[in-house]
Amino acid sequence: MTASSSPAPRIDYFALGGTIASIRGDEVGAVPTLTAQDIVDSVDGLTDVADVHAHQFQLTPSPEITIADLIRLRDAIAASVAEGSVGAVITQGTDTIEETAFILDLLRPGTTPIVVSGAMRNPSLPGTDGPANLLSAVQVAASPQAVGTGVTVCLNDEIHAARFVTKSHTSSASTFVSPSLGPIGWVSEGRPVVALRPAGQHHIDLAPGTVIPPVALIRMGLGDDGRILGTLADLGYRGVVIEAFGGGHLPVAALPAVAELAAAMPVVLASRTGAGEVLSHTYRFRGSEIELLNMGLIRAGALDGLKARLLLTLCLAAGQDDDTTAKTFASVGTTTGPTRM
Ligand code: ASP
Repeated sequence: MTASSSPAPRIDYFALGGTIASIRGDEVGAVPTLTAQDIVDSVDGLTDVADVHAHQFQLTPSPEITIADLIRLRDAIAASVAEGSVGAVITQGTDTIEETAFILDLLRPGTTPIVVSGAMRNPSLPGTDGPANLLSAVQVAASPQAVGTGVTVCLNDEIHAARFVTKSHTSSASTFVSPSLGPIGWVSEGRPVVALRPAGQHHIDLAPGTVIPPVALIRMGLGDDGRILGTLADLGYRGVVIEAFGGGHLPVAALPAVAELAAAMPVVLASRTGAGEVLSHTYRFRGSEIELLNMGLIRAGALDGLKARLLLTLCLAAGQDDDTTAKTFASVGTTTGPTRM
């Protein structure tokens, strides 16, 4: 750096564990071991891109991450921004990135870039992708182009919007896809490009210590009479997302159980297809989306079952009543205008 060049932007890096931090010990199988600083030190050229402040937030496989952890993480990011950070990078296990990124997207106030990344091949393997992914994620977080995109997921040199991204393969480095949309940008020769900007920014505020209610996700299959639905209230669930067939359809045999459930708690109608919107007025056969929505089910829009479950969880945790919850789904599920809930 010359005396006249501007200082590298401050990026705060929060390491949560996962494959990017996992190495093999004496036994078969990698486990989260490397610290945030170990990971930073393994990436050539990272310090040329940004002044990286590394934080060891936790060191776990990603199925252990909770919404309470993400509220803490949101607050840690806000504290770093107050100290002059221009962006945050999070690395964690890839198994739950599509969920954690979506939750952070809803919880985060403001427009500071937050980029979530990880690795598919751990550092003990040839061709590990962690260092390249972290470098790209920091490049994105430090870029003015990433301001106002909402939380993004950056792996394999692709930038995905949290609301649409999904893990599509158990082991491929190109596992992250956004089926309804595609990536919103990419990183080429170290230069981030944000070609598309997600419409609508949605914010749900949850304070630390908020009780997180249990919400069930039930995928229906051929011939299913939905008998499991009748057990959910007794198990303490406060809401349910049903992944129905196609545009939002269920077998007639399941309708009594669905009606009983919808009378007891909010029930969201999502699709098990993995892309596209749940329909609203295309079919009128028994068990069709028209009948289910008339029974009071809330339409998930373009949110898949995993994301609909998280949105319903946050709505309930924020104390939203059924009408407000339906409005939140209409807004987040179809990415219409800005809202503050
Ligand atoms: N396979 C996972 C990963 O990519 C493990 C995890 O999600 O923690 O890191």
